[in-house]
Amino acid sequence: MQTQAFLRAVIAALIVMIGLCVSRPAAALPGTPLATCIVPAKAGMAAARLFENTGQFDCRTSQARFGSGDFWVLSQRLPDLGSRGANIRYGSVWMSRITLYVRYADGVVRQSSFSSRTASQVLKLGAVFSQRLPPRRSPPIQLLWHVEGSANFRGVILGPSIVDDSEGARTQTLRAALYGAFAGMAIALIVYNLALWGALRQAYQPAYCLLMLCLLAYAATSSGAIAHVLPGLDNNDRQKLSVLLLASSATAALMFARTFFERAVFAGWLRTVSNAVMAALMSLAVVWGLAAPVALRTADTAMSLGYLTLMLLVPVILWRAWRVRSNYLWLFALAWGAPIVMAGLRVANSFGLIGWRLWLDNSTILAMAIEALLSSIAIAYRILLLSRERDAAREKEIEARLLADTDPLTGLLNRRAFLSRAIGRTGEQVLLIVDIDHFKRVNETIGHDGGDEVLRVFARALRSALPPETLVARVGGEEFAIVGDAATSVPPNAILERIRREPMPYDVQVTASIGCCTGPLLRETDWKLLYREADRALFAAKAAGRDRARHAIDHGPSPDRQSWNEVLSRSAP
Ligand code: GH3
Ligand code: MG
Ligand code: MG
Repeated sequence: MQTQAFLRAVIAALIVMIGLCVSRPAAALPGTPLATCIVPAKAGMAAARLFENTGQFDCRTSQARFGSGDFWVLSQRLPDLGSRGANIRYGSVWMSRITLYVRYADGVVRQSSFSSRTASQVLKLGAVFSQRLPPRRSPPIQLLWHVEGSANFRGVILGPSIVDDSEGARTQTLRAALYGAFAGMAIALIVYNLALWGALRQAYQPAYCLLMLCLLAYAATSSGAIAHVLPGLDNNDRQKLSVLLLASSATAALMFARTFFERAVFAGWLRTVSNAVMAALMSLAVVWGLAAPVALRTADTAMSLGYLTLMLLVPVILWRAWRVRSNYLWLFALAWGAPIVMAGLRVANSFGLIGWRLWLDNSTILAMAIEALLSSIAIAYRILLLSRERDAAREKEIEARLLADTDPLTGLLNRRAFLSRAIGRTGEQVLLIVDIDHFKRVNETIGHDGGDEVLRVFARALRSALPPETLVARVGGEEFAIVGDAATSVPPNAILERIRREPMPYDVQVTASIGCCTGPLLRETDWKLLYREADRALFAAKAAGRDRARHAIDHGPSPDRQSWNEVLSRSAP
């Protein structure tokens, strides 16, 4: 219970932290955001004239409303940049070519352009285009973009802002750290989930590894990091890959949920619908990539509808998990809370319900980083539960073995357990057979129950007279066997003395006779020989008047025969 409370506290603290990070009012991009106006491109339009004649630009309608095509986008007047090196940054979009015109205070206009094929030169981490404004003595005052072949999913020029060099470098380092941390965490999760899968065989583990793998690949493509490795990669192809990998991640996430929860959660129609959603997401992503740039916006809307359906499944899954009293509901809800909320925001954004934000574009990675962290805790928790189960099972097993190995009346070893432990002991062994004298009389005097009590007390006295490594067993009604190393064995006389001193129930006087034999005890045949000889010695002790010990002729080499002879002479009456 304490562990659960602790885990809940950790998770709650993380959620609060995430909440604080996400809810910070986000500027479109770090730096100074720029307002823009737009006009669909028509033949004969030229940059110089558009800078002068701004009347035809629409500054109110959202860019996404204009559909796909070629556009001119004009920025507001730039803030005073002084002599600092400045960069214009905006979100990467699907387009065939972007030409940026920079107008300076002295009226000079400079232009630079890139296509989707050469976009990797300007693509920065976080999938942002970043272009340096060529420094001149006269300051830049306004920007104009000519965007050709824009798909215009969420806008033509996304969230442009002016960033100075040092700020640009800082955000790049920060993002590199974020992606690096995510990649490290994902790789660690994949490796240890695969390793644990070997031991725990939980069906959700391969699904989780697949999810992490897809997300890792998605992080590499959607962040633009891949462009640093493959500078020749067309920016539009990178986006196709990104769409495919995001759909694969969503599919893997659904597969994970199906294997994570108890079977009952996904029973019936939910199973069929979730199959259909997975198939739809994957095929839509493939169609999106293959059909592009034809019907891009239609494919994109269909894709968004797929994600919307997936989002609608989430409350159903949670409700069902709650109904079947799933053990994993609170873990799932907490760990996946952030990714689910982020995915919801992205779907809302794709339907134009909320505006585009850079952090929204990168939110999947951030949310999954949080999920990965929480999942690690969740997995640790499940391992804790499993290890507790294992400990309990082991305790039960020990208990059962103890029951199977012990004599119920005295708690000593029973014959079977004694033999299995005695045979195979290396080195010279001593076997003692201890038989209570005239036990029949004891029974007759104090009754069978009293006799039982005597057996219990006798057994306790025997056990306490011997070192712990010596085996002591009840092998017959009132017959006991003792095996120990010859070198360190307790003399039989000392045992007899101990028994004589032991206060017995009803003050009955109890003595015993002992037959001993020394020899190897490696095999079953050794045991038979030792037992026969010890039994003979016991018979001799009984015949000689009881309450004494007798030793048989020794078997095998005995380094300590001398001491035994001493023992025998002392134990003789
Ligand atoms: P000896 O000195 O020759 O060994 O004489 P004894 O009476 O001890 O030997 P005998 O083998 O003739 O009798 C053993 C008795 O032990 C007979 C039986 O009733 C009794 N006995 C065997 N098992 C138990 C038991 O579990 N409880 C009790 N109370 N008595 C038992
Ligand atoms: Mg007896
Ligand atoms: Mg007997």
